[in-house]
Amino acid sequence: MHELSIASAILDAVREEAGKRPGVHVKKVGVRIGALSGVVPEALTFGFSALVQGTDLDPLVLEIESLPRRQRCPACDFTFEVSGDTLACPRCAKEETLFAGGDELDLAYMEVEE
Ligand SMILES: [Zn+2]
Repeated sequence: MHELSIASAILDAVREEAGKRPGVHVKKVGVRIGALSGVVPEALTFGFSALVQGTDLDPLVLEIESLPRRQRCPACDFTFEVSGDTLACPRCAKEETLFAGGDELDLAYMEVEE
């Protein structure tokens, strides 16, 4: 299960951060997930809870920010969010646009308690 290994990697990062700052307790961790990353947010949340439960990190909250696919139009230099099937520029209607984001899988932030 793909999401479980990602959840595990997030927890490794949390533990590493917590290890650097003795005495702080990580309460919340935020990740950014692009529409093209192949990660199912629900599955990630589920895997994450399963891994956290009963450990010293419990209750650690995972917040997921979903990012849409973005394309950039080379003709009018407009970056837009893709919705639906078309990648055409909504401003000038050019059909060949460039990939500009949407495959993110980033640790965005951690919220700690002193
Ligand atoms: Zn355009």
